[in-house]
Amino acid sequence: MIITQEYDVLIIGAGTSGAHLAKAVASKGWSVLVIEKLPREKTGTKYDIFHIEEREFERLGIPRPQKGEPGWAFEFEKNYNADPRTLYPKLQTNPIVGLHMHEYTLLLCDLAEKAGAEIMFETAFEAFTSDSYGKISGVTAVKNGETLSIKAKIVVDCSGIGAAARTSLPDTCVIDNKPLGDDDMFYVILRYVKIKNAKDYLDGSTFWAYYKSWIAPCADPEGAIIGIGACHSYEYAEKIYEEMEKTVPLPEYELVKIEKGRTPYTKSPYSLVTDNFIVSGDAGCLTKSVNGEGVTSSIYMLNIAADCIDRAFKIGDTSKDTLWKINTEYNRTQGAEFAFLRALLVGVVNAADFNEFEYVFKENIINDELLNALNGSAVPAKVLIKAAANFVKGIATKSIRLSTVKAAAGAFKNAVDISSHYKKFPDSPEDFNEWRKTADNIYSKIGKIQ
Ligand SMILES: Cc1cc2nc3c(=O)[nH]c(=O)nc-3n(C[C@H](O)[C@H](O)[C@H](O)COP(=O)(O)OP(=O)(O)OC[C@H]3O[C@@H](n4cnc5c(N)ncnc54)[C@H](O)[C@@H]3O)c2cc1C
Repeated sequence: MIITQEYDVLIIGAGTSGAHLAKAVASKGWSVLVIEKLPREKTGTKYDIFHIEEREFERLGIPRPQKGEPGWAFEFEKNYNADPRTLYPKLQTNPIVGLHMHEYTLLLCDLAEKAGAEIMFETAFEAFTSDSYGKISGVTAVKNGETLSIKAKIVVDCSGIGAAARTSLPDTCVIDNKPLGDDDMFYVILRYVKIKNAKDYLDGSTFWAYYKSWIAPCADPEGAIIGIGACHSYEYAEKIYEEMEKTVPLPEYELVKIEKGRTPYTKSPYSLVTDNFIVSGDAGCLTKSVNGEGVTSSIYMLNIAADCIDRAFKIGDTSKDTLWKINTEYNRTQGAEFAFLRALLVGVVNAADFNEFEYVFKENIINDELLNALNGSAVPAKVLIKAAANFVKGIATKSIRLSTVKAAAGAFKNAVDISSHYKKFPDSPEDFNEWRKTADNIYSKIGKIQ
């Protein structure tokens, strides 16, 4: 066994989450080692294109590649939301930047290294090591068949959806250590296509909530990416895709390539910290409730974590009591917003049928105000009250079933309950068990997306 020097922070995984945190912590002057199981040239190659909303770069302090620079792929700003037959599409304008995942991840890795972090590629987390009190004191990792023992004051799991370290925590830990099941994630299939007729070239993206499907521009202006995300399995996602093709008027296309990947679609563990340990990124299920995207939502949490890590080192205490501030700051803000939206969407999407989806688009119940609110991950009460009034009209005209409205109303109540509860996330671990029981109770009513 090779014993390395001791680091302040050891991060597992050099995806966008791990690389961003490495830069943020190293910039504050602390020593950081990232271990990444893949070689540098394969890191960030799980799929090609991902999107970031233009406004997020400045808000989160992340690099914004310009046209022609590494990472940049394309930009667009028209986003349509549509009913299952695309008869009543709603346009929203929201500038989006399409990026190459591999190049952008390496850009973040370069910035981390420039800030002083070390990245050890082809090095896989194996197990935790602990101190004489049983608290995490580092990890063992395997590089080129040799075992390394790496000591660190704080270990951070940014190892993606497999959550290699989180799932190795003991059952007694305050962090949920369960791996994700098939209904806790979206199986995403991306078809990169060439559009046959110039009249069909895209000027923006379209999202069909009924099918959890979309078409969006890609780096080739004559091409597109047709995506679908569904729980359970890729086979199930393909089945929904077949259904979708029957009603959605997709442009004629030639298939160029298919990419597949999984993204968490479930609540994040209530606690993201324990003694000397933090979980984030896909490993902490920090993906958006609206679409399962997770790059920027994780970075939001990691910025909170970087400040808290800095404070913890300054006072020389990396226990869960000190790191707990990450939980409170995260859960009371983005955590509460995501919990609200997930509860609402799960209830509504599971309940509404094809005709009801079409009706809400036709009658403008799905309108700019509601879509803007959902995009911002916070829905003001007045917007929802207006939507509720429109649902009542739907019942009166027999366009919406009473059972669907009841389900939507129940989902709204659950959403309010869970987000209010997140906003009361306890200041310290002492009151956590009580808080968790109530949260579990509300989640048992919310259910999961079908
Ligand atoms: C098809 C698809 C499209 C998506 N599109 C978008 C989008 O447009 N916008 C968006 O914001 N999000 C999108 N997402 C979600 C987004 O990709 C993830 O939320 C994000 O990449 C998570 O980053 P991460 O760093 O937490 O995890 P990852 O990117 O998965 O990085 C984890 C890293 O840890 C490494 N690792 C794993 N195990 C170990 C180990 N034992 N030891 C050492 N290293 C290990 C892995 O090799 C990997 O490099 C999409 C997801 C999919 C599947």
